[in-house]
Amino acid sequence: MRLLLIEDDPMIGRAVQSGLSQAGFTLDWAVDGRSGAAAIANAVYDAIVLDLGLPRIDGLSLLQQVRARRDTVPVLVISARDAVPDRIAGLNAGADDYLLKPFDLDELVARVRALLRRHAGAASTAMIAGPLSLDPVQRVATLAGSELALTAKEFALLEALLRRPGAVLSRERLEESIYGWGEEVGSNAVEVHLHNLRRKLGPQFIKNIRGVGYRILG
Ligand code: CA
Repeated sequence: MRLLLIEDDPMIGRAVQSGLSQAGFTLDWAVDGRSGAAAIANAVYDAIVLDLGLPRIDGLSLLQQVRARRDTVPVLVISARDAVPDRIAGLNAGADDYLLKPFDLDELVARVRALLRRHAGAASTAMIAGPLSLDPVQRVATLAGSELALTAKEFALLEALLRRPGAVLSRERLEESIYGWGEEVGSNAVEVHLHNLRRKLGPQFIKNIRGVGYRILG
């Protein structure tokens, strides 16, 4: 799952980045409101972690812009503004949850997962194709009921494919879904991860359509 962090404080940003990456999320980090807005306009995120006190566009205005477009992406506000009116303003502007700084990274990860779960609906969020099943919130993938031992990138690839069952996804599209900004991507990195993923799943699930891309078969 791809998340966007909009935070201008480098120390908090780095901590959040490492916490969410370790939890298996792909994360883009924008350091001011305007680049955050540009990121939202250019990519689809599963959730946004938003600071309120931001240079260029402040967090509250950014959130109002997002909601004015009827974009329902889940937003977790992280703020040092403890005053009740600030929290109320954040929630009124369309935040789904509010976490006060300083916060514990484990709590942040748990809150993000809870947001994703709520957004996906109370029902199971598992994606299924034949004997394959993947739960993006619990981060578990199984084949015929047995848990698969996947790396974070393999998991992200499988998730991207399972989100669009039957559709052919290009290598570039897959690359985009598993790498955040500034991550070093080798020229055949996606192929290498796909190769390893197919080895773990068995060759019949991921089909390579030469010159076009890949799709998953249930
Ligand atoms: Ca700030």
